[in-house]
Amino acid sequence: MGSQDGSDRAGFGCVACCAEDTAVALAHHHNRDGVRFENMIRDDSHFIVSVQRCGLCSQAFVSVFTEYVDWVASQDAQYRTVLPITDAEADDLVAGRLSPHQVGALGHGRRHLQSDWPSGAEEPSVYWKSGVFGVSEGH
Ligand SMILES: [Zn+2]
Repeated sequence: MGSQDGSDRAGFGCVACCAEDTAVALAHHHNRDGVRFENMIRDDSHFIVSVQRCGLCSQAFVSVFTEYVDWVASQDAQYRTVLPITDAEADDLVAGRLSPHQVGALGHGRRHLQSDWPSGAEEPSVYWKSGVFGVSEGH
């Protein structure tokens, strides 16, 4: 688990990786020295699941990337969910005891950073969301 400083991040992450301001959080997640790639769980062309870890507070995250090919507009819809997870959950994912499809259920009572980039949109919308979410493989 990450550092706990009495904020409303439910015990997960730090002011960088779980920043209230999604732009701040996203910048940290995109920074090579911010949140680092740790383990690849699934690496299909339209469904990429990996475990990542904050370089500042060691909070583990699961990142679920889904892409839907838009054959008509040739601009593919892309969705990314980044959910903080415990070290035990990260171990289970890496060991295959927890399938990528079960990750959505871990969202119960937790926030995840959601990036939606539907086909045709100029730029992705990024926001914090709470609760269970669906995990589906793109195509
Ligand atoms: Zn952090």
